Amino acid sequence: MKLHEYQGKELLRHFGVNVQEGKVAYTPQEVKNIAVEYAQPVVVKAQVHVGGRGKAGGVKFSPTAEKAYENGQNILGMDIKGLTVNKVLVTKAVDIDKGHEYYVGMIVDRNVQSYTLMASAEGGMEIEEVAAATPEKIIKYRVDPVKGLQPYEARQIALEAGFKGNLNKIADMMVKMSKAAFERDAVLVEINPLFVGEDGIPVALDTKFEIDDNAMYRHLDLASYREVAEEHPLEVEASQHGFAYVKLDGNVGVLGNGAGIVMTTLDVVNRAGAKPANFLDIGGGAKADVVYNAVKIVSKDPDVKAIFINVFGGITRADEVAKGVIQALEEGILTKPVRMRIAGTAEDEAKALLNEKNSDLIKMYPTMFEAAEVAAQEANAASGKGA
Ligand code: GDP
Ligand code: MN
Repeated sequence: MKLHEYQGKELLRHFGVNVQEGKVAYTPQEVKNIAVEYAQPVVVKAQVHVGGRGKAGGVKFSPTAEKAYENGQNILGMDIKGLTVNKVLVTKAVDIDKGHEYYVGMIVDRNVQSYTLMASAEGGMEIEEVAAATPEKIIKYRVDPVKGLQPYEARQIALEAGFKGNLNKIADMMVKMSKAAFERDAVLVEINPLFVGEDGIPVALDTKFEIDDNAMYRHLDLASYREVAEEHPLEVEASQHGFAYVKLDGNVGVLGNGAGIVMTTLDVVNRAGAKPANFLDIGGGAKADVVYNAVKIVSKDPDVKAIFINVFGGITRADEVAKGVIQALEEGILTKPVRMRIAGTAEDEAKALLNEKNSDLIKMYPTMFEAAEVAAQEANAASGKGA
């Protein structure tokens, strides 16, 4: 679960991180009121779940309350990478020219089976370019998963990264960020910019904070941070049905029973010359209504031009799968061809049901390769791509 900047800052504050003061506003008038209350220059910042808001015009320095109002008017309702801005964070501004913008972050790193801490003196809006062009300017450090980040380690990293200012305080901020990551099961935490002004004191101006969805049961106090309206509508619908669903960028909708078979199916679609539009696992033992709901979700995706269902019937009965698909067809939900490989338990019953229905939209194939081939060709033809 991705958190908004203001939510991430709230969490970091709990861990003692020195965070730039700010309040959330939903209207330009609220923006102005906060600016008047602070009686100093402010920054108006779009709260959406994407990075690079600054470059997209979603972060504006506002020297006066009038200017803050105006910036609030422009940013609220703005579209940033497909997301509408419904609220802004109004923060007390720092004088960015009189100091340095540094970067610190932590990610779960499978390669080292722990967190990797990253630090760079070249923070701010260009960190992606730094990572691409001059990766040596980003210090990486494996944090011990049992001991966590120790203050002496943090001081060493701050030195090595070339940070200037009160290094004890900067290291302390890194240690606190690290505690926040561990205790809140973060998959990612970033403070960028970590600003160090003329007094040498670090302050967190921006944060990205993402919590492992599988650990959310341990953080029920954060459930209210989740904003269903800000998530992909199909992912929300899928999670309501308990499906593991991931939106991908291709044109073949993919559905299978079990994570392993779905992953194989993605590969098979690729091999057939098309790209999967999603990953959807209906789980084991799915009945017709579950299949129906899954087909409904995949059909709603405008990118999907053909659907490939790959089910190996063990506990899952092939005839239940067929019934679910047929129900979707009968209700007019199914407008795209469904190509299926359903083998195993009750395969013959499934075949009989489909033969009876006799629709060009639903067809069964003896192997997954044949089904994938047809689905890929049809999807590519519908998307205007060569096979
Ligand atoms: P992002 O673009 O989504 O990462 O948003 P940030 O919150 O990191 O802000 C982008 C940029 O806005 C920063 O790199 C700073 O250059 C600038 N900025 C952020 N906060 C302040 C501030 O308090 N004062 C000034 N003058 N600039 C700021
Ligand atoms: Mn940032």
